[in-house]
Amino acid sequence: MSLIIQKYGGTSMGSPERIREVAKRIAHYQAQGHQLVVVPSAMSGETNRLLGLAKQLSDDPSGRELDVIASTGEQVSVGLLALALQSLGLKAKSYTGWQVKITTDSAFTKARILSIDDANIRRDLAEGYVAVVAGFQGIDSDGNLTTLGRGGSDTTGVAIAAALKADECQIFTDVDGVYTTDPRVVPEARKLDSITFEEMFELASLGSKVLQIRSVEFAGKYKVKLRVLSSFTPHDSNDTGTLITYEEDNMEQPVIAGIAFNRDEAKLTVTGVPDRPGIAYSILGPVAEANIDVDVIIQNTSSEGITDFSFTVHRNDYARALALLNDTVKPAINARGVTGDNKIAKVSIVGIGMRSHAGVAAKMFECLARENVNIQMISTSEIKTSVVVDEKYMELAVRALHAAFELEKTTV
Ligand code: ASP
Ligand code: MG
Repeated sequence: MSLIIQKYGGTSMGSPERIREVAKRIAHYQAQGHQLVVVPSAMSGETNRLLGLAKQLSDDPSGRELDVIASTGEQVSVGLLALALQSLGLKAKSYTGWQVKITTDSAFTKARILSIDDANIRRDLAEGYVAVVAGFQGIDSDGNLTTLGRGGSDTTGVAIAAALKADECQIFTDVDGVYTTDPRVVPEARKLDSITFEEMFELASLGSKVLQIRSVEFAGKYKVKLRVLSSFTPHDSNDTGTLITYEEDNMEQPVIAGIAFNRDEAKLTVTGVPDRPGIAYSILGPVAEANIDVDVIIQNTSSEGITDFSFTVHRNDYARALALLNDTVKPAINARGVTGDNKIAKVSIVGIGMRSHAGVAAKMFECLARENVNIQMISTSEIKTSVVVDEKYMELAVRALHAAFELEKTTV
């Protein structure tokens, strides 16, 4: 017998019929002798609907109230799923985050889990219950309801798995695993049987939307055995989804695991910057103070004491960053001008094989050159290379790279 945590996403919980299917799947696992804690998301579209209602009543809604509102989506889900399980004859009990209780910090709308009291869940499991725990929510030390950020039910699932030292945390979603890239862009994309934690972490940070980044971070910290599965395959199918692994099995490891892309970025350049100590700080200090996250950064070598300085930000922050550079930074450092482009995209190749193989980045650049895709910026780390390109060439770049690295082919 093993202890399994199963997280079901919003699409899987989308209607009473779907919830009944989820209940049947849970019953199937229980019949095999497993103990189960189940973490559902809100029904699909529900969180957006709730936050939309809030926006109709306030231009600047307080985070505390947003969390009171948004957390109801998962509360409805746990109640409905518990009923569906009971109708199948299973013993099931629903819990909100605070009933468990899941304690978080007080960063409303993006709280972090601090601790989980597992007493209730352990008692239920011992008595043969399926514990149904609301994802995405918790309570702070002052008793305020909190939520964990969009997609936060993944993190609830992984955190519960860590707290209970579960044998496996299964994330059921509307895709059947982690792919070499998004199959909507590259039809030949291939499902991976396994991927290392480091690669999954990079892919999630670089724009792959399969798992919430914080859940991957959490899984890595506590070495949670994590598996991504589809909730739309038959209950008794042998589909094993994608397993996130922690050992590096070099023999079977392809150089590149996958390609991530992200249209959410924008580029800003400060031109004619007098090159002297402290200049990067004079530009990026005010940006950081305005709470704008910076991603790729490039400073050119200077010619006659003058240089250009470019960086990327989230597209939502573009207007604010542009205004800040024009109004505050440019006059302060006596730069010549500020330009920007919010029609860019970042394409990244990720693979732990890059550590031991030279020339991987060069192969990426060669492929893009062949396709006539101009690279605007490059950034690298040990296991990834990212390029910033014009948004209109993004899909072309992803498809060409997928073919160049032969990701459609299975290794071994
Ligand atoms: N319902 C929340 C959201 O839509 C949390 C989740 O689905 O994981 O972001
Ligand atoms: Mg989700």
